[in-house]
Amino acid sequence: MVPRLRFPPSPTGPIHVGNMHTAVFCWALSRALKGDFILRIEDTDAARNTPEATQLIFDALNWLGLDWDEGPDIGGDFGPYVQSERRPFHQRTIEKLVDEGHAYYGDDPANPATPSGNPLRLRMPRAGETTLHDAIRGEIRFENGRNQDPIIVRSNGDPLYHLATVTDDHDMGITHVVRGEDWIPSAPIHIQLHKAMGWDEPVWVHLPLILNRQGQKLKKRDPEGGYLIRDFQAAGYLPQALFNYLLLLGWTPDNAQEIVDKWDVRQQFRLERLSPSPSTFDWDKLNWMNRQYMQRFSHEKLAELLRPYLEDVYDELPLQNEWLVRLTAVIRESLNKLEDAVDAAEWAFADNFELTPGAQEALHGESARPVLTRLVAELAHVVLLDEATAQSILQGLRNGFKESDGWQPTAIFHPIRAALTGQTGGPPLAEIMAILGKNRTLQRIANALRL
Ligand code: GLU
Repeated sequence: MVPRLRFPPSPTGPIHVGNMHTAVFCWALSRALKGDFILRIEDTDAARNTPEATQLIFDALNWLGLDWDEGPDIGGDFGPYVQSERRPFHQRTIEKLVDEGHAYYGDDPANPATPSGNPLRLRMPRAGETTLHDAIRGEIRFENGRNQDPIIVRSNGDPLYHLATVTDDHDMGITHVVRGEDWIPSAPIHIQLHKAMGWDEPVWVHLPLILNRQGQKLKKRDPEGGYLIRDFQAAGYLPQALFNYLLLLGWTPDNAQEIVDKWDVRQQFRLERLSPSPSTFDWDKLNWMNRQYMQRFSHEKLAELLRPYLEDVYDELPLQNEWLVRLTAVIRESLNKLEDAVDAAEWAFADNFELTPGAQEALHGESARPVLTRLVAELAHVVLLDEATAQSILQGLRNGFKESDGWQPTAIFHPIRAALTGQTGGPPLAEIMAILGKNRTLQRIANALRL
């Protein structure tokens, strides 16, 4: 029998990293088991569903490269794949449960009411225990008879999540239910529904939650930052990096290796290697991961990815490719994610920048005027200001002023940096000068000398 796993999101809001973590694990297990990965849209909450949210689910899965074998867009043998279109199947379950006395209308199990205007409740056992066999956590026991029987169909006739999901899972031949641990309290209802219908239970896999640094469950609008998938995308996290990062929240690959790809997943992903402990979403770790993947790109490729971010903010369109590639080479080490290029490259675009206090100080020191004046004189001879030329000019200034005035390198280079970028730190000066070119370099020095 081919294992069949489903990812059944509810399109009630933009998909966030918690849902995506579930999707990644469900996809990974399906691939490791050589099974099917099925996308089902659970749109039973008509009041809260939006078409945009459904689109964002497709976008996010495609972006992370989680391919599905059956779903609303591609069909399959077990359709339809949109829950609201499966009402006839749900109706069959309802009739069987009522006919066989496993469910009753109204609030009193001893005196069932009529169907009209009454909710349908599942008759749960009054005594004993319901046992959840969870693949990650082992046995979890629930004492029966502690709660009122759960509603499975609203008084207006709409099936509720419990009934719809269990029916769909059975009818679609789902073998493994992979979902967040916040569904554990509902599991006894699902187990009893399976029993009442005489259906085999799937393998239950409840994944640990992801917490923020305060140890709280992630919220869509978390004070620590946006956890919506489209926010990660917009910030310029690479899909390979987010995929890899999410996989490590609860799975330990062989040899504790940290960089894993889809091939490793197919080879190594095992239920037995999943941990039940919650993990903390660690932005530093994600940034590190993203840098690992950015490093794999050539300057040319990375420049292509940075282009839209820069063109969006700086209106020097279009950016000449060769120049952009050189700029990329200069700033790339300082980037955690693509959008960081906007700040990291600001000096290359904005001619009128603010000076940091350190830069102000450097420009008011005794060395500033002589150094900048000498630099202007040296540049006068230059035709093309490339990095090697800039390097040799800077070297000459450094040696000259050391000899004549005994000045340290910072006394030379800080005023130049301050004049060219408004800061006293950043990429190597010769690279900055080559990116700016002769005219803009001279222009910025002239501006600084006027201060
Ligand atoms: N539609 C539910 C959700 O969005 C699915 C829960 C389940 O996997 O059973 O979380």
